[in-house]
Formats: sequence, structure tokens, C-alpha cells
Amino acid sequence: MRTNSIKSVSSQVDIDNVLKAISEGGDIWNNKLLSGFKAGFKSYYRNLNKEQCCYCKRDTQDEFNMVLDIEHILPKSKYRQFMFTKINLSVSCKRCNMVIKREDISFVKHAKKVNTRYHKSSQYKFIHPNLDKYFEHIQYICFIVNDEKIKKYVVVESSSKGAYTYDYFDLMKLEIDSISKAQGVQSVNNNFVMPGDENIKKILNILNPQGI
Ligand SMILES: [Zn+2]
Repeated sequence: MRTNSIKSVSSQVDIDNVLKAISEGGDIWNNKLLSGFKAGFKSYYRNLNKEQCCYCKRDTQDEFNMVLDIEHILPKSKYRQFMFTKINLSVSCKRCNMVIKREDISFVKHAKKVNTRYHKSSQYKFIHPNLDKYFEHIQYICFIVNDEKIKKYVVVESSSKGAYTYDYFDLMKLEIDSISKAQGVQSVNNNFVMPGDENIKKILNILNPQGI
């Protein structure tokens, strides 16, 4: 297994422990020997990503108690060889990782070809956290209205990766949730712009004049 990819963010002790865990086999990722390596890696990626989820861009201040975990872009259950490859790691929220993405690989263009082309952006249908520039595909806009954040994801025109990411991670749901939260509504139906709050309506019109 390659180890040169992790040297830049780990101490020699961490790397030795990783090598030992690999040699022990079994459930390598959950081997206690990896705790130092994982802590260092997580902190590195949290900094790199400015405390944001690599897929939905929500940050630890957006969501009460939101946890960012190490994310394997190609799931480690299916692509064990990339378990420690820097390009294949980032940090994501539990919603994107454990609720939506899980072990799915439908976002990969060719499940086999990606074994040798894992470092090519073109192999991924969604915005790859390390191979693509997120904001070239989706603009993430936040407004604060009376202490509540309203979020809007604007897919950059003609970006198929932006459109795919928006659908794959159901980002519209996050927009709707943010609006309902701002309005003090627990759940919403299609009529998500509730009457009576002119400020929010105005902002939504500016962001999305055609309506959703
Ligand atoms: Zn997320």
C-alpha cells in the first residue's frame, strides 16, 4: 500500500502505526493504532476545508453540534487501496456521508477504470473535493435574516458536475430547511414560502427570480 501520500500530514510515529495496522490486516481503519493518524488528518482537512463539509459546504457553525468526519470519496469498503490516499480523503458531514452517500459509487463514471484514474476529475460525476474547484460549479450563498441563515446553492451555468452534485446531495432540501427554520416552521410542503414574511420573500426573489 502506498504511504508516500500521507507523509505530509502525519508524523513518523503515525506512519509507523499505520503500517503496523496494515500488516495486522482486518478492519484496518478502525484499528486503534490509527487514532493519532486520524486525528492529525482530520484536523488538516478541517483547516483545508475551512470547517466545511466538502459536499454541502455547511460548516460547524451552521448546524448545532454538526460533526465533520474523515470522508473517503471512493468508499474504503470498495476501494481499499485508496484508504490512505490523500486525494481520496476529505471531511464531510454525517448527512452527506452516512445518510446520502454511504457505500454508493454511482457518482463514478467507470467503477473499474477509476482504479487507475482515481486522480482524474473526469472520472467523477460530482464535484470532487480535491480535484475540482467547488465554486466553479456551485456558488454557495448565505444570508442572515434575523439571526437565521438562509442558504442558496446556485449551479454555475452549464456545469454538469454542479447540477449532479446539487441533485445527488439533495441540496434543495437544505435550502428549504434553512428557509423554514428562518420562519420558525418545523416542516414544509411545496408552499415553502410562507405568507407574511416580506423580508424573506424579497430575498428569495433576488436569489431565484423564477422561483423553484
Ligand atoms: Zn454535507
